Amino acid sequence: MRGKSTNLINFFKILIIMVTLEISDYNKEYYKENKEKIKERSRRWVGENRERHNQRNKEWRLKNPEKAKRSRERWEKKNKDYKKKYYLKNRDKILESREQNKEVIRERWKKYYKENKGILYQKKKEDYKNHPEKYLARNYTYKHKLRGKFCADCKSSENLEFHHINYEENEGLTLCMKCHKKLERLKNEE
Ligand SMILES: [Zn+2]
Repeated sequence: MRGKSTNLINFFKILIIMVTLEISDYNKEYYKENKEKIKERSRRWVGENRERHNQRNKEWRLKNPEKAKRSRERWEKKNKDYKKKYYLKNRDKILESREQNKEVIRERWKKYYKENKGILYQKKKEDYKNHPEKYLARNYTYKHKLRGKFCADCKSSENLEFHHINYEENEGLTLCMKCHKKLERLKNEE
């Protein structure tokens, strides 16, 4: 008797698996045939329920950090220049918000630095191994702090940085942060 009921259970198990496979096949087929329609529908839904979508997304990302990381990496690979494009498109807004949230950003950096000391140290080490000339030049400018100098462009003496032209000889220009960014931007736009 027992043998018979086990057989019956197995039979139903297999049946369920087959039905499930059938359904997932059907779903796949349906998706293939209606890809654009489905995408359009979900796009519309996201547009109308942005808050809810963001909330759901956030929850999902917290629950599946590994998956989220992979999906982000895939997306970034597909949209390589998105950061640059986004920046160029929203430059004024970004710069304004950065200026307004200066303190918050600084605090966030401090916290980040404290929590990731080990990783940052490792990165520094690799940086030195891969580009010793760049590393040393950068280190040089940080050590000498550019005291008593002026921005070569706007003559400001605040937030000075060193723009390297030749890393080996440590040649370059003293610029304030704003002018330095302007210069890098122009270089990027070329
Ligand atoms: Zn300047």
